[in-house]
Amino acid sequence: TEIPIGSPVRTQAIINRYFMKAKKSLGQNFLVDLDALQGIVQAADIKKDDQVIEIGPGIGSLTEQLLKAGAKVFAYEVDEKLPEILHNELPVKIAGAPLSARFKLKMKDILKADFKQDLSDFFDLSKPIKVVANLPYYITTPIIFFLNGSDLKFSSLTLMMQKEVADRLSAHSGTKEYGPLTIAVQAEMAVQSYMTVKSSSFIPRPKVDSSVVVLKPLPAENKIDIANSKHFNWVVKMCFAQRRKTLNNNLKALIPNTDDRAHLIKSLGVDAQIRPEQLTLKQFVQIAAKVPVKN
Ligand code: SAM
Repeated sequence: TEIPIGSPVRTQAIINRYFMKAKKSLGQNFLVDLDALQGIVQAADIKKDDQVIEIGPGIGSLTEQLLKAGAKVFAYEVDEKLPEILHNELPVKIAGAPLSARFKLKMKDILKADFKQDLSDFFDLSKPIKVVANLPYYITTPIIFFLNGSDLKFSSLTLMMQKEVADRLSAHSGTKEYGPLTIAVQAEMAVQSYMTVKSSSFIPRPKVDSSVVVLKPLPAENKIDIANSKHFNWVVKMCFAQRRKTLNNNLKALIPNTDDRAHLIKSLGVDAQIRPEQLTLKQFVQIAAKVPVKN
C-alpha cells in the first residue's frame, strides 16, 4: 500500500518526478496535511456512493481521500499538466472497481461549468450532489456565487478558503467581519465554519491561514423572501459604502428625502445613530423594499 498523495513526502516526490512548478496564477497550493484532508472529508460527511464535484483536484491529495471514503468524484481542473499526474498517481482500483468507474476529470474552468450537460452521464442528477474543494483562492467568492446561481441542486458546499473570507461568510452582525458578503451569502445559505488550517499545511505555503467552511442551502421555511437579489445586494452594498458612518448617512444616496429616511429607520425599530453592521438580514430586507429598484 502506498503512502497517501497528501503526505509531504509523496507530494514532494510527485512534484520532483513531474518537474511540477506550482502555478501561482492558478492558486496552486497543495495540501500536505492528512488531518486536514480527513477533516474536509468529515466536514462534508462523505458516505459510500456520495456524488461529489471536486473543484481543482491538483495532484489528487483530496481526491484520493474522497475516493477512499466511498465517494464518486467528478472533478473540474484547468492545468493541462495534471491529467497525466492524476491518471498515474491516483489508485488504479477503488474498492475493486477501476478508477474510471469512480472518478471523472473534466478539463474546464469551473466558472464555465454546465452542470446538466457535464454530469449527466456520470451522476444521477435526481440525487443530491456535494461540492468539495480546496479552492483556488483567487476566485473564492466568484465560485460561491456561481454555484449558488447555477442550476446545480447541491446539498452542501464544503470549501477550504482563505480564513479572512471564511470569517466574513460566517460573521454575526455587530462584528467587523460582517458586511455585504456575509449578508449576500447568509440570505441563501447556512454557513458553518468547521476548522482552521495553518499555512504550513500547504506546498507551497500560502501567505494566509485557511478555514474549511460548510455551506448548505436554507430550507424554504427558513428562507427570507428576497424578491430581487440583485437589487437587495446592491442596497446592502450601498448601506455599507462608508462603514464607519451611520446607516442614515449611507442611506442618503438611496433615499434623498430626510423625512423618508427618518421614517424608514424608525420603522426598523432601531436607534437613529445605528451603523450598518448592527443590522440583521431581515432589517436589510426591509430597507431594500423601501428603495426604488434601479434599472
Ligand atoms: N485539491 C488539491 C489539493 O488540495 O492539494 C489542489 C488545490 S489548489 C489550492 C487549487 C486547484 O484548483 C489547482 O489544482 C488549480 O490548478 C485548480 N484551478 C485553478 N483555477 C481553476 C478553475 N477556474 N477551474 C477549475 N480548477 C481550477
